Amino acid sequence: MAERAEVVIVGGGIMGMSLAYSLTRLGVKDVVVLERSSLAAGASGRSGALLRQHYSNVPEATLAYLSLQTYANWDDVIGGSCGFDKTGLIATVATRDENCVNIERMRRNIAMQNGIGIQSRIITADELFEMQPFTNVDDLDVAAYEPESGYVDSVAATRSMAEAAARGGARVVEGCAVTGINVAGDRVTAVETSQGTFEARNVVCAAGAWSTPLLASIGIDVPVEAQRVQVAVLTRPLAMPPEGTMTYVDTAGGTFLRNFGPNRTLVGVGGGEFHDIVDPDDYDGRCDRGFPDVAIEYLSRRMPAMRDAAFLHGHAGLYDMTPDAHPIIGHGRGIDGLYLMLGFSGAGFKKGPAVGQCMAELIAEGRSRTLDLGPFRLERFDDDNWRLPWSPDEYSFSTDFGHGF
Ligand SMILES: Cc1cc2nc3c(=O)[nH]c(=O)nc-3n(C[C@H](O)[C@H](O)[C@H](O)COP(=O)(O)OP(=O)(O)OC[C@H]3O[C@@H](n4cnc5c(N)ncnc54)[C@H](O)[C@@H]3O)c2cc1C
Repeated sequence: MAERAEVVIVGGGIMGMSLAYSLTRLGVKDVVVLERSSLAAGASGRSGALLRQHYSNVPEATLAYLSLQTYANWDDVIGGSCGFDKTGLIATVATRDENCVNIERMRRNIAMQNGIGIQSRIITADELFEMQPFTNVDDLDVAAYEPESGYVDSVAATRSMAEAAARGGARVVEGCAVTGINVAGDRVTAVETSQGTFEARNVVCAAGAWSTPLLASIGIDVPVEAQRVQVAVLTRPLAMPPEGTMTYVDTAGGTFLRNFGPNRTLVGVGGGEFHDIVDPDDYDGRCDRGFPDVAIEYLSRRMPAMRDAAFLHGHAGLYDMTPDAHPIIGHGRGIDGLYLMLGFSGAGFKKGPAVGQCMAELIAEGRSRTLDLGPFRLERFDDDNWRLPWSPDEYSFSTDFGHGF
């Protein structure tokens, strides 16, 4: 006998869980999340989960802002803990030579962000040095400072969201791989899984870097590639403060970093040789032998005392990259009842709660009230306009950081 659900969600990462939770809040109780492995087995469990709000476009800045309200008030809104640590956040972009345009762009982007409600301001390099005296600011003129931002524990957040969804009536099935999507005419009818058929009026693909082959099997081509990205956890030397640092998205220096519990720092580096396109079903989840030295080298350019940091452990995870590094959120092309929430391009964790809310409104009410999802639709890739920047104030990058702002 086939099982039945109003909504089947494929993928138990932050997106799948956030959507399940939001659907139950809108009164849709008959929701099933199918996860082929275990909760947060994909990018969500390997994420840095830095919560930056600094974007140069309104739609993504809004998703980051709305989501931060949930992360920062987790116990009241979701219940439990997501490990939110409000460290404050520094975002840098190169501002020298041909990148000098970035200073004015940062001013305008911050004005845009303030208009949304984001607390951010531009600070000089000297101000940054006063706040974080272990920071080398020689290459910086300005930075964006977000006092309310920080990071979360990605596994705790995903798990807590799953528990909230379950309290609302949703069912989470781990160890259940979706092997096919059934379509009759132009309507989705069911999914085939390792545990049998689940009939459903609505099917949502939230399968991250694994979405491409699943959707290709029903003729939907999503331009999403799996990009392997590494992070290292380091023990801080005595010269660094024990309480740690602010959270940094340092595109000028080519790193992102945050505290990882007491006395430890998590660091990732920008693009280059450590970002490679892989088969998501056959990639190495460990960090490469040479990666820790490179991470320490990059990090110590910004924080010289970190040259003496000790490598503790590291891992690799997958970014589900789209060609424009913006996500795909909305209807599945021409198939009634099919929805897509994928392609978060290495920047999805910070947006999880709000994306789930928008998607739940789209499914339950026919339209997202919270935010117009139009810019995120898959169909944008049908013409060359997808190459156009989403804002006149998109930054010029001198390094390949993996994704823009
Ligand atoms: C190293 C690293 C650092 C990052 N740092 C940040 C950061 O600092 N800030 C930020 O905002 N974002 C960051 N990200 C990105 C962020 O983690 C992702 O955008 C986000 O977690 C994506 O969530 P998701 O639910 O869409 O996908 P995933 O978490 O990948 O979930 C997809 C799930 O689908 C399951 N699945 C796949 N195929 C099937 C199937 N056929 N049947 C059933 N289940 C299936 C998988 O097992 C997986 O659990 C980082 C990512 C990585 C890898």
